[in-house]
Amino acid sequence: MKKLDIAIAGAGPAGLAAALFLHRAGHRVTIFERFDKPASVGSGLILQPTGLTVLGGLGLLDEIMMLGSRIDRLYGADARSGRTVLDVRYDAQRGGRFGVAVHRAALFGVLHRAAIGENIAIETGIDLDGVDVGSNAVIAGGGRKVGTFDLVVDASGSRSKLRRFAFHPEEPKPLPYGAFWASLDWRGEGFEDNALVQRYQRASVMIGVLPIGRPEASAEKMAAFFWSLKPDEADRVSSEGLDAWKARVCGLWPECRAYIDQIDSFDQLTLARYGHHTLKLPIGPRLAIIGDAAHSTSPQLGQGANMALLDAAALAHVLAQTSNIDDALDAYARARRWHVRVFQALSSMFTPFYQSDSATLPFLRDRLIAIAARIPPGPQFLASMVAGTAVDPFGAVGLREADWV
Ligand SMILES: Cc1cc2nc3c(=O)[nH]c(=O)nc-3n(C[C@H](O)[C@H](O)[C@H](O)COP(=O)(O)OP(=O)(O)OC[C@H]3O[C@@H](n4cnc5c(N)ncnc54)[C@H](O)[C@@H]3O)c2cc1C
Repeated sequence: MKKLDIAIAGAGPAGLAAALFLHRAGHRVTIFERFDKPASVGSGLILQPTGLTVLGGLGLLDEIMMLGSRIDRLYGADARSGRTVLDVRYDAQRGGRFGVAVHRAALFGVLHRAAIGENIAIETGIDLDGVDVGSNAVIAGGGRKVGTFDLVVDASGSRSKLRRFAFHPEEPKPLPYGAFWASLDWRGEGFEDNALVQRYQRASVMIGVLPIGRPEASAEKMAAFFWSLKPDEADRVSSEGLDAWKARVCGLWPECRAYIDQIDSFDQLTLARYGHHTLKLPIGPRLAIIGDAAHSTSPQLGQGANMALLDAAALAHVLAQTSNIDDALDAYARARRWHVRVFQALSSMFTPFYQSDSATLPFLRDRLIAIAARIPPGPQFLASMVAGTAVDPFGAVGLREADWV
């Protein structure tokens, strides 16, 4: 492929990773970010073996592992009975896999520093609004043309405005449950250094504590704390007061006191709303759609950022393998088709077992699924689902899985 002028909408994990891959392949890349100062929003996330492999491909694995917290196990118990409901261990499958939980600022910082270090152009304060399909011009708010490009990469997240130019546009459907999230100082007592630990009350309450390492090398170790709730109930919870909410959390999980005591105001809690969509084809005319713009979901399986990184690697790989843009876009859609579809379907299937009003689903979860998860091949399947490898994602995006052991 000849060297292209490429516009990337969004400086999130997808956009920054795509910029690095494409710049290194010799393309002229410009990132447009709507915020004046690009920064990460939100708390923490788990980088799975898939996302870690992509970061390894970019030469950024050591840096992210130094900042993050190694995760070997996802553990969940019923809040009232203490009965184990979920116990997934990455090492149920051979290969020595693990996840790395990171503060979002750490992931953003590692990718952003690399992009700045390689002199990739990042234009901030530009809210991209559309693409002029005839002239290949990229349009910002107010109808202003910001440039003409051979290819536009939409990495603008779940609220993308460019997605409407896809061949089969589709918008996310809101999910009934979201969550309050906070980044707090790590308190180890009663918690595991290398595990995501959760408590459930039916499927209507899910509380979680995830060690996420440090946002930057000089900072102290932190945890992501989350409490699931319906977004339209957030106002009622706030009006009942912080003490009432804290009493509810600690009534279900007393060890959380060490975290809850760090919260002095609801302003410390970010309300995350989740939606779900999967574009039938993540492409349009001279347009590749990657990351949450192409497929959003609840974070129940912890795959979103990892799939965003895989999309970025896939796009660069197919551009290197093909000689024209249309062929490259078709190849990109093919490369990611099955992995994205399977994981979006699994996320859609599993989320209501943990976040819904159903009484039946958590009943089944606590009995049938908890038992199936202990009998082979249950543990192995769950490990590959969490790792993001239940369908091989690597071959089609031109990567070999990182050497873990
Ligand atoms: C609470 C929560 C927990 C999560 N936990 C996990 C987890 O454990 N593991 C995991 O893999 N994933 C997790 N995810 C999902 C993960 O955060 C997303 O999948 C990931 O951030 C997607 O990356 P992205 O680059 O596609 O989009 P984003 O991170 O949303 O980045 C999009 C960027 O585009 C910019 N932008 C938006 N619109 C425009 C525009 N019009 N013009 C220019 N710029 C624009 C935004 O400002 C932003 O910088 C979680 C999500 C949430 C909400």
